[in-house]
This record gives sequence, C-alpha cells and structure tokens, in this order.
Amino acid sequence: MNKFYKSVKSISDKLKNIDKNAIRVSATVAVFFLAVWLMYLLHISNNTKRYRNVVDDFIMAQTERESEGISSAFDKRCTAISYGARTVSKVDEAYYREDLSPILTSLTAACEFEHVVFVDMNNKTYFEDGTVSADYDFSQFIDACDVGTQYMVLGNEEGILSSKSGFVIVAPVRYMENMRGYLIAFETYDNIVSISELRKEIKHDEILLDEKGDVLCRIMSDNSVEIPKRDVNFFDEAQSVMDAEEFNAFTTEYTECINARVPGKTLRKLGEGNTLLIYYPIKGTDGWAVMDCYPESVIIAITRSAEIEAIAIFVVIVIIMILAAIQIIKFLSGERRKITELEYLDGLTGVFNRNAFVNRAAEILKENKNLPYTMICFDVVNFRIINETYGHERSDVIIQELANACADAFGHNEAYGRLTADVFVALTLDDGEEGERIEYLEQHVIAKAREVYINHPIKIKRGRYEVTDVKESIDRMIDKANIARKYVNTNGTELSCRYSEELLENARKADEIESQMEEALLNGEFKPYLQGKFNMVENQVSGAEALVRWIKPDGKIVPPGDFIPLFESNGFVEKIDFYMLEEICKYLRRMIDENREVYRVSVNQSRYLLNDPEYVNKVKEILLRYQIPVGLIELELTETVFFHEKDRMIQMMNELKKMNVNLSIDDFGSGYSSFNILKDVPFDVLKIDREFLTDSVHTEKGKIILEKIVNMAHGLGMSVICEGVENEEQIELLKSINCHYAQGFYYARPIPMQEFMDKYNTPKN
Ligand code: C2E
Ligand code: MG
Ligand code: MG
Repeated sequence: MNKFYKSVKSISDKLKNIDKNAIRVSATVAVFFLAVWLMYLLHISNNTKRYRNVVDDFIMAQTERESEGISSAFDKRCTAISYGARTVSKVDEAYYREDLSPILTSLTAACEFEHVVFVDMNNKTYFEDGTVSADYDFSQFIDACDVGTQYMVLGNEEGILSSKSGFVIVAPVRYMENMRGYLIAFETYDNIVSISELRKEIKHDEILLDEKGDVLCRIMSDNSVEIPKRDVNFFDEAQSVMDAEEFNAFTTEYTECINARVPGKTLRKLGEGNTLLIYYPIKGTDGWAVMDCYPESVIIAITRSAEIEAIAIFVVIVIIMILAAIQIIKFLSGERRKITELEYLDGLTGVFNRNAFVNRAAEILKENKNLPYTMICFDVVNFRIINETYGHERSDVIIQELANACADAFGHNEAYGRLTADVFVALTLDDGEEGERIEYLEQHVIAKAREVYINHPIKIKRGRYEVTDVKESIDRMIDKANIARKYVNTNGTELSCRYSEELLENARKADEIESQMEEALLNGEFKPYLQGKFNMVENQVSGAEALVRWIKPDGKIVPPGDFIPLFESNGFVEKIDFYMLEEICKYLRRMIDENREVYRVSVNQSRYLLNDPEYVNKVKEILLRYQIPVGLIELELTETVFFHEKDRMIQMMNELKKMNVNLSIDDFGSGYSSFNILKDVPFDVLKIDREFLTDSVHTEKGKIILEKIVNMAHGLGMSVICEGVENEEQIELLKSINCHYAQGFYYARPIPMQEFMDKYNTPKN
C-alpha cells in the first residue's frame, strides 16, 4: 500500500487549494484572536482605570466614615460642654461645692471625658468628686479661650489631668454678662478614635492636625493612638519634600476645603512617590482636620491584583479559544480530507477512483512521453455470478484483494484505479510483462477466494488499448480499453482482447441494444419462432426447437446471434429465457386445450441461468402454472454449463429430471466436448452441432467418429438429433449411422409460432 500512499501524495499537489483554505481559516482565526486581544487589552486598561476610581472612591468613603466618627465624637463633646457651661452658670456661687459635683460627674460620664472641672474666677478648681483646689493652674487654656466664644478645643500635650496627652474643651461660663469661670473638659485621643477595618486592610498614615497643621496624634492600623514625641508640623514636613509650587497649590487647596468645612483629596508627591492625601475637617473644632495619607504604591498594588486577575482570566479564555480553534481546524481539515478521499479515492478499496486515476495517468504520460504505455481494463470473469451466488460481502473481499494486489503488480511509473464493481483500470508500461502482472493478480485473488470459501473458478479478463497519442484524452483511452474488455471471448483460453475500431462499432450497437432491451421485452418485441425436428425414417415432424427473434417495430427481424451474447454478458438473458419458456408453455397449453396435435418443444437455456439458486423452482412453477404434461418440454443446455461448478450443475440437472423435464445437450462437438459429461449428466437427447456434421461428412474419419458418437449415445440411452441438416447427402449419411432425427433447413426453417401451428399442430379428430 506504500505505493498507493505515494500516489496520494502526488495528487496532493493538485489539492493545494485545500491547504490554501486551511491557511485562510488559520489567518482568519489569527486576526480574530488579535482583535480580541487588543479589545481585551483596551478593556483591561479601561477596567484598571475604572477599578482605580472605585478603589479611590472606596478609600474616600472609608476615610470619610472614620473622620466622621472622630468629628462626631468631638462635636458631641463640644455640645455637651457648651450645654454644661450654661447649666453651671445657673448654679449659685454659694452652692458651688455641693451643686457642681453632680453636674461635672454626669458630664464626665456622658461623654467619657477623663475629667470635667470648673475653674472660677478666683482660680479655684472644682472637681467631679466635690473637691476644690486652688493648686491648679489652667491659665494656658483659659487664656487661649476667647471669652466671647461658646467653647474652644485646645491641645493638651502635657496630659494635664489626663493619663495621656489629648485635648481640652474650654467653655466660658457666664451669668447675665458676668464671667463666672470656665468649664474645662479633658479628653484623650483614644476615646474619640472609632474602630475601622480599613486601617488594618490598607496600611496608611492617619493623623489628626490642629489648625496650624501640628500633628496632634497618629492613628495606627490597629486603631491605637500614638502621640508624637516631639512637635511635628505636617506642613513643615510637606514643604521640605515638595517643590514650592506644588506645596503652595496643596496648602491653598487644603485651606479652602477646611475653611469651607468640606473634605478634600489630592495626589501629591511626598518624597519617593505620590501620596493620596484625604483631609476631613473636624466638627466642633476650629481648623482641626483628620488627614489620611495613602502611598500610591499601596493603591496600585490593590488595583494590580485585580489587573493580574483579569489578565489571568483573559489568558485562560484565549488558551481555551485557541484549543477550540485547533479542534475546529482539525475537524474542518479532517472533513475536507474525507471529502477529498470521497472525491478521489474509491470507498470500498481505498484505491484511486476514475477521477484520480485520470489525473495520475495524465501526469505519468506527460512525464514519460517517450515510454510505450498500454491502458488496460480488467475484471473477474463472471463476477456477477460470484456476487449472486456468494453474496456481496464475500464478493467484496475479492475486489479488495484485487485492489491490494495491484499495489505490487504495478510499478512507480504506472497507475491503477477502480472504475465500477470488479472493473479496474491500469496504465501500464508496455514492457511485455502485462500478462505476468495479470497472472499475479489472478493468483492473489484465487488464494483469497479460497480463504473465504468461494469455489467459483477465478479468471481475470482484460481489454487493452495501446497508447499511441499521448494527447488523446485519458477518458477515451479508458473507454477503448473497456470496450475491448467487453469483447473478450470468455469461452476461449486467451482472456484478453485488443481494442480495434471494429469493436467500437460493435460497442455502439451493443449500447443501442442495451438501451432498448427492457422496453422491447415489455412491448412483446421478442417472439418465439419454432423450427421443426424431423424423424428422417418416417419423414415426419417429431418436435420443435424454440428460437428467439427480436422483431423491431419497423418489422426488421434481428437474429439471436446479434443480441444473445450481449444479453449473456449483461444478465438480461435470464429474463429472455424465462420469457421464452413461458411463451412455449402457453402455446403448448393452448394446443392441448384446443385438442390439436402436440409435439415436444425444446427451449434453449443459457448457462448463466443456472447460476440462479432459484432456477429449478422457477422452472417448476411455470410448468405447474400451465399444467404441462410430462415429456412436452425439453431444456437445451450447452456443455459450457459444466465448465464451472460441475457438481452443483449436475445436482440441478438431476432435480430437473425428477420433474420429468427432458434435457438435451446442444451443439455437441462444437467445443471441447467431454464424454464424461454424458456419463455424469442424465441427458435424454444429444444434439450434434451443425459444423461438426458439415466437417464429418467429407472425411472417412469424420464419419467414423460421428458413427461412434451416435452409437455411444444410444448405448447410454440417449436419442440423437443432428442440427443443420441441409441436404440429402447428409440425411443418407445420418440414416446409415443410425441417427434418425434431424433439424435443418432441408426439412424446415424456424418459422413464427402461428405458422408452425397452422402447419403442424393439426386438430385431432
Ligand atoms: P442453437 O440452439 O444451436 O440453434 C440452432 C441454430 O441453428 C438456429 O439459429 C437455427 O436457425 C440454426 N439452424 C437450424 N438449421 C440450420 C441449417 O440447416 N443451416 C443453418 N445454417 N442453420 C441452421 P438461430 O435461431 O440463429 O440461433 C442461434 C443460436 O442462438 C442458437 O443456437 C442458440 O444458441 C441461441 N438462441 C436462440 N434462441 C435462444 C433463446 O431463446 N435462448 C437462448 N439462451 N439462446 C437462444
Ligand atoms: Mg439450441
Ligand atoms: Mg445448436
């Protein structure tokens, strides 16, 4: 089969358009992927921007919430102290000691202050527990507090009256425009910081700034508060790392927001990289703010993880799409290959079909202009019979083996293919070894047939056409070889036929006949003629032979020699023979019914007929249908019937005999007559061939042989009739050797049935 694949490769050049299609598909897929890739990159960058905004907004919202918490804590305390100041103002000085204590205690408790104290105008300090002391000096807070204001928030860096440094809220206490003292609340920063998860999640600096920008405290990621050990001013620090222009822009922006009491954000370069600054004014204070500082790298890290995630998803999608595309391309090219195979390769055997063979043959002839080539068409003799007898499955094995053997029988510069059924074609070198090649094929097929228990003899016949003009179309060359194949005489030993123009004319006629035969049968154009058989001693008719005639609508009579061989090769003969048998039975029935003289009629049976396993039953059925009495029907067979499957044929003959059908051997002496057949087959009549008679009459030896045959047949219980008796000399000779029956023009020609009836089937009295 290697050779076969090489051949496939050679036509693959012709199929380059298929590769082109694959390239086109791949290019389209690549462009598609590129487009998807670009779109996705755009999508990612857009998404990153969007995601960055989302992260920014999220941070902003969280910061707002944290700042809001701190701001409200301040506000709540400021409101409480300013309210407390009004309450305290109503307390009579005489009862300060007793009445202030519960007020201060409830204020401390309500807002979780560290301490709330009242300082009167004499610098006496009243505590929650009712104690009064003159030892404390809160002048730094009192002096800083504007008398006209409701309250003031001030830093308590030293942690006066508090465990930690924090802030104080100072509220002047007035009664009727008279200053009575100051309510001072001490608070640590810890108490005003609300717990926030964001501080843990996104590491950032959160600081509380006073109106000057001094860092009051730093809120750590664990929500704890750290007080700077030294004085730190945020703006001083910022100025040291920012350029002047940027610093001015930042401070302006900041001041505007804080003054307007609205939050703000800005991205500024503080040191190494950018920092997102979010500031939020604290309610109740005068210019205090919460400032959150997020290094941009931290925010980018958050968006990057989302970006990486998106890219990873995209890469996975692309990989899946590529795999899917590969599968699609594979599938498409597989389908394409299948289509190509269907287009160029024979389905049953995998060898070239006609199309591919034509291409390859044309290539070979073009490449080897100077070499002599022969186109051969070959098939298995009587393959139709093998097919019908052994079934398609086993017969296909024969065809496949023939195809396989071709791979070794034909060489590099040769080609072969299958045309139809068992018909193969080959362009082979005219090297004198064509016969050997065919024999090689035959041996392989014979061996295979044995393997699958096909007993039918296998012979390969071939038609040949020698290529003379390389420009002639390959199709015509094939047709010519094929015509020659059809004219191989399968009865001969040389199973090959060379194409000639005469064959072409025959083939044309054959085509014409084949195109008309079915319709002609339906139209009753086939007519049985009857030729009388005579008893030469009594000079009386003793029977008849049915001979078919094709009477065309224009009245032209076509003799059987012009169509029976063709019908034998295409199988139509079976229909004709059964038709004839039925017509004769119909005729006999009519003669019986009309009470006329009836004679035995012999009907010719083609050897192909006997391959039908139902043959005997079909004959039986016809005879029964017309109720033909015993001895009126005789079936004429030629010895060629016994060439193949002799035993099965003999068995069939015996079955026919059981039905009381007479059997005659036709054309005895025309071929390779074997006397064995006479021994094995229960024939009733031996019909001596016309040619044999003509030849024998002229020589003494011939006469002796003829006499011996007649004697032998009589000895075997057969009657003998001689065909083609045309003159008295022959009659005399036949009579002298005891052959009493004759069929020939001397007595009667084949005549239409009606004429025969009128002449011989005379009514009985
Ligand atoms: P066959 O069966 O040997 O028929 C005898 C042939 O010899 C007939 O030719 C007949 O006309 C011819 N013949 C008879 N006497 C003479 C004579 O004295 N001189 C000459 N020259 N010829 C004579 P026909 O009718 O042309 O048939 C030719 C062959 O065609 C038959 O040979 C038979 O083999 C075949 N055939 C005819 N009808 C049928 C049919 O219905 N079925 C089949 N399968 N074959 C048929
Ligand atoms: Mg005959
Ligand atoms: Mg004959």
